[in-house]
Amino acid sequence: MSVITRAIRTVFLLELLRGMSMTFRYLFRKRQTINYPFEKGPLSPRFRGEHALRRYPNGEERCIACKLCEAVCPAQAIVIESEPREDGSRRTTRYDIDMTKCIYCGLCEEACPVDAIVEGPNFEFATETREELYYNKDKLLANGDRWEAEIAANLKADAKYR
Ligand code: SF4
Ligand code: SF4
Repeated sequence: MSVITRAIRTVFLLELLRGMSMTFRYLFRKRQTINYPFEKGPLSPRFRGEHALRRYPNGEERCIACKLCEAVCPAQAIVIESEPREDGSRRTTRYDIDMTKCIYCGLCEEACPVDAIVEGPNFEFATETREELYYNKDKLLANGDRWEAEIAANLKADAKYR
């Protein structure tokens, strides 16, 4: 760029005017951002968020303690202990997920034969301590109760692709 051209640009503030015109143009365009957390973007039915353990509509736990999720988890984040009930059914006595190990691969959900463990739509579960990310069965069941409607709708929407 010649000295004269640069001088003209400097004297007439051409760069500044170009920048301001671009700012002005974007003022009237559709916004590309949202006002999070008051607005939230759409989520895919396949979104893999916070884990939850689901129940049947009668309140019975879905999980049959087959431990497939524990076996398939590549991060070894799941620990299950189980024992038979008086009626002969097998249920977990312990179901822990170390969320600090989890890589959100979704393999536990894929492996579960009864859709008990799922990765729900909740992505707002940041904590202040590590301990809060060691989920136990009560926490996972509470998540399931809280998000059941959304989880069931997402599974239904995705069922034809499975
Ligand atoms: S999402 Fe993947 S890493 Fe996380 S608990 Fe399930 S299987 Fe393990
Ligand atoms: S959550 Fe599913 S895969 Fe895991 S132990 Fe229970 S029934 Fe088996």
